[in-house]
Amino acid sequence: MKLLDGRATSASIKEEIAQEVEAFIAKGGRKPHLAAILVGENGASVTYVNAKVKACEKVGFESTLVQLPDTISEEALLAEIEKLNNDATLDGFIVQLPLPEHIDESKVTMAISPEKDVDGFHPENIGLMALNLPTFLPATPYGIVQMLERYEVETSGKHCVVVGRSHIVGSPMSILMGRNAYPGNCTVTLTHSRTTNLMELCRTADILVVALGKPEFVTADYVKEGAVVVDVGITRVKDDSKKSGFRLLGDVKFDEVAPKSSFITPVPGGVGPMTIVSLLRNTLQAAKSRE
Ligand code: NDP
Repeated sequence: MKLLDGRATSASIKEEIAQEVEAFIAKGGRKPHLAAILVGENGASVTYVNAKVKACEKVGFESTLVQLPDTISEEALLAEIEKLNNDATLDGFIVQLPLPEHIDESKVTMAISPEKDVDGFHPENIGLMALNLPTFLPATPYGIVQMLERYEVETSGKHCVVVGRSHIVGSPMSILMGRNAYPGNCTVTLTHSRTTNLMELCRTADILVVALGKPEFVTADYVKEGAVVVDVGITRVKDDSKKSGFRLLGDVKFDEVAPKSSFITPVPGGVGPMTIVSLLRNTLQAAKSRE
C-alpha cells in the first residue's frame, strides 16, 4: 500500500507555483489576485476560506476576503458578485459553499463570470471540461487528477467507480476519468443513493473515488484487492480529546481498507490540500490569460 500524500504533493506543487509567479512578475505580469466571498460564520467554511487565503500568501498571490453576514439577501449577494466580476484588479474569485438556505446556489454559480470562475463550477466551464477543451477544472476533481498524475497511477482501460454525483465532486470526477486524456481513459461508473448494487459495483473498481459525505461508509467489503482508493469525504465528528473539540473522518474506513489497496488517500491530508492547490493553479492560469 502506498499513501497518496496530498500534503506533501500540494507542498511541492505550491513551490512550483511560487516559482512560476516570480517568473511571471519578473516578466512584467501583475501579481495574481484571488478573492473569496464568505457568507456567515459556518465553522468549516471559515476554516476552508482561511486556508485558501493563507495558501495565496504562500505562493505570492494577492488575496481578498469579502465577509458578508448570513442575513444578506440573494439580491445583495448577486450585486457583490457583479462588483467582483467587474473588478479589473481581480483574476478570479470563489463563493464559499454552502450558502444560507434562502440563497439559491445555482443562481450564484451562474452569476460568476466564467472567466473569473476559478472554482470551475459555471455551466460554461463544465461544458468546456466535458468537451476536453481548455478551461478551469473544478477544484476537487482537478486536485485528484493532479495527485494521480504525480504518483503515476495507471488509469487507461481501468474501471473507475465514483460514489456520489454532486455537481462539485462526483459528476465532474466521472467526466474527467472518462476523457480521452491522462489521467483518464477509464471506463466509468457513476453511483449515487439510488444505486441498488453499490457494494458489488465498488468491488469491481480498479479506481474507487468516494464522495458521499458519510463517515467510514466504505469498509473493506467494498474494495477489490489492489484497488486505488480516493477518499474525498470530510466530516467533523465530536471528539473531546481534541483541542478543537472535533476530528475529521473520511468516507472510507481507512484502517480496514488501506491494507487491501495499492494506493490510498488519508483524511485529513489527502484530497483536501490538493483542492486548494487547484484553486491556485486556476487563478494563475486566469492571471496569465489576462496579460
Ligand atoms: P453531496 O451531499 O452534495 O453529495 C453526496 C452524494 O452522495 C450524492 O450524489 C448522493 O446521492 C450520494 N449518496 C448519499 N448517500 C449515498 C449512499 N448511501 N450510497 C450511494 N451514494 C450516496 O456531497 P459533496 O459531493 O459536496 O461532498 C461529499 C463529501 O466530500 C463530503 O464529506 C464533503 O465534505 C467532502 N468534500 C471534500 C472536499 C475536499 O476538498 N476534500 C471538497 C468537497 C467536498 P444522491 O445524488 O442520489 O442524493
